[in-house]
Amino acid sequence: MSKWIVCSAWPYVNTVPHLGTFIHLLSADIYARYLRLKGEEVVSITGSDEHGTPIEIEAIKSQISPKKLTDKYHHSILSLLKKYRIDFDNYTRTENQTHIDFVQEFYKKIQENGYIFSKEVELPYCNDCDRYLPDRFIEGTCPNCGSDKARGDQCEECGRILDPTEIGNPKCVFCKSSPVIKKTIHWFFDLPKLSEDVKSFLNSNKQLPDNAKNFSYKWLEEGLQPRSVTRDNKWGIPSPFPASEKKTIYVWLEALLGYISATIEWSKNQAKPNLWQKFWFDKETKSIYFIGKDNIPFHTIILPALLLASKEKYVLPWQVSSTEFILYEGHGKFSKSRRIGVWMDEALEIAGPEYWRFVLTLIRPETKDANFTWEEFERRINNDLNDAIGNFIHRSLSFIHLYFNGCVPSPSKLSARDREFQNKIKNSSRIVGELLDKVKIRDALNTIIELAREGNQYLSEKEPWHRIKDNKEDASTTLFLTTQLVHTLSILIQPFLPSIAEKIWMQLNLPKKAIEQQWKKIGEYIVEPNHKFGKIKPIFHKVNSSEIRIKRKIIP
Ligand SMILES: [Zn+2]
Ligand SMILES: [Zn+2]
Repeated sequence: MSKWIVCSAWPYVNTVPHLGTFIHLLSADIYARYLRLKGEEVVSITGSDEHGTPIEIEAIKSQISPKKLTDKYHHSILSLLKKYRIDFDNYTRTENQTHIDFVQEFYKKIQENGYIFSKEVELPYCNDCDRYLPDRFIEGTCPNCGSDKARGDQCEECGRILDPTEIGNPKCVFCKSSPVIKKTIHWFFDLPKLSEDVKSFLNSNKQLPDNAKNFSYKWLEEGLQPRSVTRDNKWGIPSPFPASEKKTIYVWLEALLGYISATIEWSKNQAKPNLWQKFWFDKETKSIYFIGKDNIPFHTIILPALLLASKEKYVLPWQVSSTEFILYEGHGKFSKSRRIGVWMDEALEIAGPEYWRFVLTLIRPETKDANFTWEEFERRINNDLNDAIGNFIHRSLSFIHLYFNGCVPSPSKLSARDREFQNKIKNSSRIVGELLDKVKIRDALNTIIELAREGNQYLSEKEPWHRIKDNKEDASTTLFLTTQLVHTLSILIQPFLPSIAEKIWMQLNLPKKAIEQQWKKIGEYIVEPNHKFGKIKPIFHKVNSSEIRIKRKIIP
């Protein structure tokens, strides 16, 4: 048994998350469920990322306080996670006191360790608004790709991390006037001092996907730069450095530490205040982060560097599963600011949560950008979920209901074809498990769909509906074996579709729950002859993309 810390990118709560953000939460949930079925010791954590300039901008626009805005979205996410069956051990928020205390202590500590220095810098300042313009308070031209969508912290177009003074033709986002440059003191994280340590971390990590590795090495080659830790904003965690009283900590550099503070809070909530250390300070613990590719350097360079700078024995990231972007109907990546995509709340008006879990897993952009279209949504639901999985299960169980009064028939001597089918069932958890171990979540679900297709193919070849009349023994053998596959599928899909797994389990009428089963015993378990099923009914229904388009007022 190993210890695991399963983390998802923290949703930034200036709005309800869109499905491009949801995929990280979903991936972490699937992975944690899989690990638990394997009997591993898991803590899964994330939370609402509440500070930073986009939230201040949104709050100013809506004429409410930032706290009021993040309260609203934090609570709406909590209720959505419940609906989607995303069960983190702790879904917290960066406004929680445990996080605030932890961040302040952490930065004091790395300052003592010699990794923080202060320096006078020149920053854009808006005279009309009477404020400094860090991060997203400023917009202009990207020095790297020339896009005019560059913000003070990052270019939307090329992903380059930026400094507000690098931007061409800068404008204040509030009043659109051109800023002046003013001198101010800020505190910096001495990232260059840790270059060698970060490099050896990257060299020793064999799991990181190619996109994460390539991006990180490119950063190292360009030479690591000190990162400014403080901001002049009011909305944020107060800076703990002496003489920095009016400043706050830059949102990214505190939210990253939320992975640890969320685990601390989880420990406290169970009255086991030291439990978190058993995870974070054990070098055998594996930590896995599900994030988008635009967040790679924060997780492969800045987070490890911060952890190393603390001189504590934190485990460094074991795996950073950084997915590419999901494009929406060929429009470009989902964008909160440009309202391109589908949001977690409105998605539920279109289809049930399990349908979304299913489709999003299948388009999970593991190696390249994926395109979401309503036609693809229809195809996946109708062909894969309804026809392959749903029909196989329903046919198998209803034939037994019809011919054997709902009781599992006894097998006779197995033919070569029967044995081949039986072996497929026995090997399935190993094959799916190997893919999940490599974090190939999409391929794992595809393999499960393929298995259900094999089941349908087997039924079509063996035709128990004919054999029941001329060879009842053969029909019995066939339906005994398909029952075993239904049982296997109900556990294999548990990480992906937990509510569906429970429904199948109820129809099979088996003791305990699908969630309480053991992954390694999936192929060994036998649903015994004469076992009586529960009430049988179809689990899925089809969807129609044209109807969705009309409902959403999308012109084809
Ligand atoms: Zn750019
Ligand atoms: Zn202004």
